[in-house]
Amino acid sequence: MAVAALIVAAGTGVRAGRDLPKQYVEIGGRPVLRRTVEIFLSHRPVDRVQVVIGPGQEQLAAKTLDGLDIPAPVIGGATRQQSVMNGLAALSAHMPPREGTVLIHDAARPFLPVAVIDRVLNALASHAGAIPALAVADTLKRAHDGLITATVARADLFAAQTPQGFDFDTIRDAHQKAASAGRHDFTDDAAIAEWSGHKVAVVEGDARNIKLTTADDLDAADRHFARQAFLDRPDVRVGQGFDVHAFVPGDHVILCGVRVPHDRSLLGHSDADVGMHALTDAILGALAMGDIGSHFPPSDPKWKGAASEIFLRAAIDLVHARGGVLAHGDVTLICERPKIRAHVDAMRATLAGIAGVPVERIAVKATTSERLGFTGRGEGIAALATATVRLPAG
Ligand code: MG
Repeated sequence: MAVAALIVAAGTGVRAGRDLPKQYVEIGGRPVLRRTVEIFLSHRPVDRVQVVIGPGQEQLAAKTLDGLDIPAPVIGGATRQQSVMNGLAALSAHMPPREGTVLIHDAARPFLPVAVIDRVLNALASHAGAIPALAVADTLKRAHDGLITATVARADLFAAQTPQGFDFDTIRDAHQKAASAGRHDFTDDAAIAEWSGHKVAVVEGDARNIKLTTADDLDAADRHFARQAFLDRPDVRVGQGFDVHAFVPGDHVILCGVRVPHDRSLLGHSDADVGMHALTDAILGALAMGDIGSHFPPSDPKWKGAASEIFLRAAIDLVHARGGVLAHGDVTLICERPKIRAHVDAMRATLAGIAGVPVERIAVKATTSERLGFTGRGEGIAALATATVRLPAG
């Protein structure tokens, strides 16, 4: 049996407060569509994943699906029904006659448990079509102009979910029959199979398999992944970093990635960004994985004049390689001059951008040493940093 998944992502509706169709909105740092595709790509019975996108979404889709082992998306039509038809047409060439199975799934359902896929596939062993659904628990009312006109018996009523699975030839032929008959009003694929005279089985859906519909749904999904990212990483490590660079003649300094005009520059092998070096060392300290000098030896000419974001990025990559996240970074710059305050927002945004965390998770502060010591005498700048890293247990 060849099993294809057809992911319908052709919607063009832009929800309140977002500038993208919902399937391209990031939840927990990854687009909804990518999360949905990855569920099927990593589930063994599925051989091929075909995505259908809306006209004009080619660039957005290419960025969203970058690096995934799937064929180029197919362009959908004016209705969901037409989009599915286009997708089935593209899959036709890759499905063996009479032995193909297709799972048609809404891109906006990124919480699909794989057990639901398996229940649908199992039912297809004895039915031409099968869908996951949940028995309706609420009492249903029919109403008109704000007044109830009837109470609808809820026994035997189910709310349909996806993926809806079908014998490939059956659903392709049913779609063609519906189109030939001028029927374009079906809201799901099971309805087309039913209309075409096929029996469609119902298997147990899952309450988690919701369809993200409103801006509130997307926000809630985002919060869910953010919370999960922390719950999954209970091993909290705090690292510290300290760095000093001396002033030399010049006209600017680079601090936390921001160019700050000054009547001196800082001496160093790289760009001498003392703040970014301290934060990088703090992260490496939290991981107990050496220091900036051991990863990027000053003796190596490769790092001469290097932008220090290379170092910070490398430290963040090590956090990710351990399955961790940077929970917080805090940098204190110590100098009499230049004055830092006006640059703090830009510094936080720059560090957060490199680290791939919200700016709320990065602090930059400045203080003087009351004209005492080398920083007080204006001989150089010192920086302190702490980094809080969360790693998976064990
Ligand atoms: Mg340094």
